[in-house]
Amino acid sequence: MANSAAKNRRLIARVNSYESAMRALSDEELRDKTREFRERAEHGEQLDRLLPEAYAAMREADLRVVGKFPYENQVLAAIVMHQGNIAAMKTGEGKSLTATLPLYLNALTGRGAMLVTVNGYLARRDAEEFRPVFEFMGLRLAIGVPEVAAHDFTAQEKKDIYAADIVYSTSDKIGFDYLLENLVGTSEEKYLRPFNYVLIDEADAVLLDLAQMPLVISGSPRVQSNLYPLADEFVATLRDGIEYEYDESSGAVKLTDEGIAAGNRFFHVQNLYSPAFFQLNRHVNLALKARTGFQPMRDYMVMGDNLVLLSSVTGRLLEGNKLQGGLHQAIEAREGLEISVENRAMASVTYQNLFLMFDTMGGMTGTAKGSEKELLKTYGTEVVEIPTYRPVIRRDEPDIAVQTIAEKEQLVLDYLDEVRKTGRPILLTTGSVKSSVRFSQYLLDRGIEHNLLNALSEANEAAMVLEAGRKGAITVATLIAGRGTDIKLAADAKELGGLVIIGTEKLPNRRVDGQVRGRGGRQGDPGSSRFYASMEDDLFVKFGSVKQESVQKRRRSARTMRRLLDRAQFASEESASGARKLSKDFDIAMARQRDLVYEMRNQIITGDPIAPEVLQSIAASVIADAAAAHGWGQPGAVMRYIFDNLSYHLPADFTALDTSNGQQVAEFLVAMFTRAVQEKVDTLADATVYSRFQNIIFLKSIDVAWIEQVDFLEQLKTVVQDRNVAQHKVEYEYRKEAFFAFEEMKKRINRDIVRLLCLSRIERGRDGGLIIQFA
Ligand code: ADP
Repeated sequence: MANSAAKNRRLIARVNSYESAMRALSDEELRDKTREFRERAEHGEQLDRLLPEAYAAMREADLRVVGKFPYENQVLAAIVMHQGNIAAMKTGEGKSLTATLPLYLNALTGRGAMLVTVNGYLARRDAEEFRPVFEFMGLRLAIGVPEVAAHDFTAQEKKDIYAADIVYSTSDKIGFDYLLENLVGTSEEKYLRPFNYVLIDEADAVLLDLAQMPLVISGSPRVQSNLYPLADEFVATLRDGIEYEYDESSGAVKLTDEGIAAGNRFFHVQNLYSPAFFQLNRHVNLALKARTGFQPMRDYMVMGDNLVLLSSVTGRLLEGNKLQGGLHQAIEAREGLEISVENRAMASVTYQNLFLMFDTMGGMTGTAKGSEKELLKTYGTEVVEIPTYRPVIRRDEPDIAVQTIAEKEQLVLDYLDEVRKTGRPILLTTGSVKSSVRFSQYLLDRGIEHNLLNALSEANEAAMVLEAGRKGAITVATLIAGRGTDIKLAADAKELGGLVIIGTEKLPNRRVDGQVRGRGGRQGDPGSSRFYASMEDDLFVKFGSVKQESVQKRRRSARTMRRLLDRAQFASEESASGARKLSKDFDIAMARQRDLVYEMRNQIITGDPIAPEVLQSIAASVIADAAAAHGWGQPGAVMRYIFDNLSYHLPADFTALDTSNGQQVAEFLVAMFTRAVQEKVDTLADATVYSRFQNIIFLKSIDVAWIEQVDFLEQLKTVVQDRNVAQHKVEYEYRKEAFFAFEEMKKRINRDIVRLLCLSRIERGRDGGLIIQFA
């Protein structure tokens, strides 16, 4: 690290050394630098070597076009981002301007550079701001997110977008485009280029907090289960610690022996855990999870007849998002809502995997505190703290820790009164919608005017944020006032000492605490922050080392309580990191399979037509498997197989076949297959048309099987975690079953290919197109 810090200082000096030379160039000469750099890159000059000149040129362009010359600290951040690391820059330090440097440099190879932000609005806003600079330098910038989410781009438009030098988009959009592209049937419909360079905004949130949430393309609905309400009815009668055990910190919940006995009585079954009741068992587990691990106004909201999830990262509503694997439906049952349709997962990818596909991944964030090691281990990225342009003078006070929630709330309100007298604006932050509403009510009861900013008041967000920095303003908010919210101080409020941040509970990790504090003291402003915490808070209930029953039994010093609370936060960070490791391990198996399947599809779409010998060997192995599975013996069995797989008519020489001779049957069936294929070739009388037909059959067979497999793998994740096995074996079990399922899937693909090739009917349409009736 020390070494690279010195190296980076030298690099900054070299960027600076080109400053006056770049200043002296005319606009045309400056633009011509892009052509020169491109040529040099083409002739093998490494980007690392080009960096000083390229950054100096782009810096000059930023100055000329948007009037902002990136500071040295920003150049340092830009170097870090180019090196595939994460630059930790405080809010207001100018991340968007900084991003132009590594994007420019990495676009010089012609392989494209992307910036991803957390939402489409930000992507569009930043793209519009910096488009003129990139265009000035002769590069093409494209915006990857459509203006109206429902109106996605056409394949042609996407091709044009992804061919641009610079693409501003969101993680979601790129993920979905990647998945969608791998569902197409011809090479003309493909639009992505190999992933080259990506710069991730809010990198810690994307790579850690959101990493496990898979992006899922949903397909056909699953057969609807009516077990959800029943399972919930049963679970509602159970008591924690008696019929079930719930481990707050891991979220694991399972029935005790008494619980199983109760289940057997309730459902009138012999043994709830026998494989025959797999579905019942699964629904009971889901209902238990729904009742223990999820709370209204913390994890979700019931809005009208709908269940809407709340993001634990941004505090915002996740409209349209659903929990996978039946959990969503289980919570709907708990809330007495109509059970929504459970769709199959057709294709899925996690952010983790998506971004690991890029050759280089850089990032920027406000804070990565406490997660540096995990980021290094998981992604190989270092976090480099960038010094602020103006020193931060905000006072971060030590936490105030007390025994009970009641004591805590009293202290918070006392402090609020004290600050109120000074006229400094106050931002009071809470960990959930529920608690924000409670504090808001306290203030109303005392006749204190304030704004309430949570997922339900998002529409007025801009206006509230605008007011939040004024003299005397009080804003009660959830985490929604965390990342990215820029509270600008009014001049008189600055004079009084700036924003006072009152945290009413410690949050699940230090990064989120830091985000909250970061709302104050921007760009050298004065301000202060202080957190209150109690041993009855959610965080301590979940991760604390003292049992709730005994919290009030003993007086503890403030210092002891602070230490216990810090330890609980640490345990929370560890637990989240453990869960992420598990999901990454799960993902490795999934990713390997996905790569293989997408490679198979690509071969078919872009490779040479499949040779007849390959076809024949596929048929031979499918037929051998069928023989092994049920054996021939009786003519009836062979006949059945023919009708189901090869032909609707028995061939004339069937009567001569000795069905007790396996070898002979196999040869007979393979010959039938070859004839059936030849017939299709003859009917179509056109080699390219035939190979198009054959490709369609291959793709269809692969897709149908893969969709099943993805869905299975998604479910398998929860199934293995519910099993009563040691934590380290969970991943092993998953990998083992995923592997077997994949082997099965490959066989199924081949079976489908044989059947569909033989039994599908094809005609040439009048317009020359193919009309296929799949068997
Ligand atoms: P962040 O995303 O890091 O919170 P922004 O990108 O919103 O910060 O930048 C904060 C403000 O500072 C913006 O108005 C931006 O234009 C301005 N700014 C950033 N860097 C510079 C610079 N080098 N010179 C002048 N203004 C700058």
